[in-house]
Amino acid sequence: MIHYKTNAEVELIRQSCIIVNDSIAHAASYIKPGISTMELNDIAEEYIRDHNAAPNFKNYHGFPFACCISVNDAVVHGFPTKDPLKEGDIVSIDCGALKNGYHGDSAYTFALGEISEEIKQLLRVTKDSLYLGIEKAIVGNRIGDISFAIQDYTERKHGYGVVRELVGHGLGKELHEDPQVPNYGKRGKGSKLKDGLVIAIEPMINLGAKEVYNDKDGWTIRTGDGKPAAHYEHTICVRKNKADILSSFSAIEAAEKANLNLCSDY
Ligand code: MG
Ligand code: MG
Repeated sequence: MIHYKTNAEVELIRQSCIIVNDSIAHAASYIKPGISTMELNDIAEEYIRDHNAAPNFKNYHGFPFACCISVNDAVVHGFPTKDPLKEGDIVSIDCGALKNGYHGDSAYTFALGEISEEIKQLLRVTKDSLYLGIEKAIVGNRIGDISFAIQDYTERKHGYGVVRELVGHGLGKELHEDPQVPNYGKRGKGSKLKDGLVIAIEPMINLGAKEVYNDKDGWTIRTGDGKPAAHYEHTICVRKNKADILSSFSAIEAAEKANLNLCSDY
C-alpha cells in the first residue's frame, strides 16, 4: 500500500533529510587515512542526536549502528569497524534520521586520496545514474522508467553490475514503505508515479559483476568478485514536471572539496 504525502509531510521529510545530509557532510570533514569507520559512525550519530533527531538505522531490524559504512568491495549495509581507513579506499556512508515522526534517508560515496581513473568513472557514473533516475520520477511515468534509466546508463552503457538483491523504497512515517524502486527494470512497467509519492532512489553499482553475498556479520553486502562498488542515494518527491529532491548533496560536496584527504575531481 502506497502512502502519498501531503505538502506538510513532504516538508517534514525534507527536514529529516537535511539532518542526514549535514551529518554525512560533518563526518566527511573528518575522513582521513587512519580514522576508522566506527569513529565516522559516532561523529554522524552525535550530529543527528545534537539536532534533535533519532538515528533511525540503529536497531532497525537489529542493525546495531547509526550508519551503514561500506568500504571498497562492501556495497551497502556495511558494519562500521575499528579498522583504519587508508589511501585509495572508497567509503559509502548511508544514514538516516527520524524527526517529527518522519524519516530521511541518503547516502554518498567518498574516495580517499589518489584513486584510479577506473574507480573515478565508477563514482561519476553511479552518481550521474541517480540523477538520470530522478529525471524520470515525474507524474505519469512508472517505477520502471526510473529503474530502466539507471540500468541503461550503468549496465548497458558502462558494463557495470547492477545489484538485484537490494532496491530503493518509499519512505515517510516508516523508513521503508511501498513501493520498491529497483535499479533495473523495464520502461513503462511497475506502479504509476503520482504526485506526493516520496521515494529513496539509490543505485548500488558494482565495478565488476552484479553478484553479491552477505558477509558473516549478517549485514554487510559484498561484491562476489571482490571489486569495488558505489552507492548514492537521494530521497525525492514525485511532482508534475520535475521531482523535488528532498535530500541534498550540496553540503556533502562542499565538505568533500574542502577535505584535502578526499578526492573530489572524479
Ligand atoms: Mg540509505
Ligand atoms: Mg534507502
